[in-house]
Amino acid sequence: MSFNNKVVIVTGSSSGIGAAAAIAFAKEGANVVVVGRNEEKMKNVSNKCESFGKKALVVKADVSNDADAKRIVNETLNKFGKLDILVNNAGIAEHSELTSKDFMKSFDRVMNINLRAAVYLTHLATPHLIKTKGNIINISSVAGTVNSGSSTLIAYCTSKAALNHFSRGVALKLAEHGVRVNIISPGPVRTDILDNLSIPNFNWDTFNETTPLKRYSEPEEIADLILFLASDKARGITGSEFVSDNGILIKN
Ligand code: NAD
Repeated sequence: MSFNNKVVIVTGSSSGIGAAAAIAFAKEGANVVVVGRNEEKMKNVSNKCESFGKKALVVKADVSNDADAKRIVNETLNKFGKLDILVNNAGIAEHSELTSKDFMKSFDRVMNINLRAAVYLTHLATPHLIKTKGNIINISSVAGTVNSGSSTLIAYCTSKAALNHFSRGVALKLAEHGVRVNIISPGPVRTDILDNLSIPNFNWDTFNETTPLKRYSEPEEIADLILFLASDKARGITGSEFVSDNGILIKN
């Protein structure tokens, strides 16, 4: 799968799935735009990308800030002159009780990062993706289909369900321009997001027992799927959701 000279924005690529995707795209010849907030981690990822001989651009940005979102697209165009692929991957999960006084603050934070930022970046990127007949990959979750985990993750589940529907709507709209839009919904993947969630008694060693395949995924497995859907091999696929969840959904 060659992405030679393709220009790819991966949001939230300082760690986890985004970092694995950025590195995988660079390995296949892409110029990657690494977007995140932690400069040291982003530098580490961009160094790995550049070890494959292609230029990487680091943009320190909060995707939920409109000025930052504009800067992500503008700096990409200034540096590389075009955009081929947008991966809306940045996301957060946080627990919040429906009746707690801070519930709406948490809801807004999660929706702003997981949904609104992807919507705004899609809005900004669309004219440029039409020019290149590029494509968009939105990283959702099985939580967009089932209220998995905990009832305190309502905001997260809602944001991912909305992202799925938004993706299908945009896929329909942009099909006439040859721009494809697809969704990837992982189940458990070993990344910081689950460590940061403070799940009681959470332990990676026993967590694999929770899935039918008795395993969780590594970020590189999701990156492989991202690259497939972004590639020409998937030229007939748009508006689709690809689930990679070690069987979680068939249990629910
Ligand atoms: P992660 O925490 O390693 O990565 C999330 C990335 O998003 C981080 O680099 C973080 O800094 C970045 N980010 C968060 N808020 C941001 C903001 N406002 N601006 C810029 N960057 C921001 O976890 P991950 O698992 O790699 O998460 C990637 C995506 O995968 C998320 O959308 C997440 O919902 C989704 N996902 C993860 C799992 C899992 O089990 N790990 C399962 C399903 C879906």
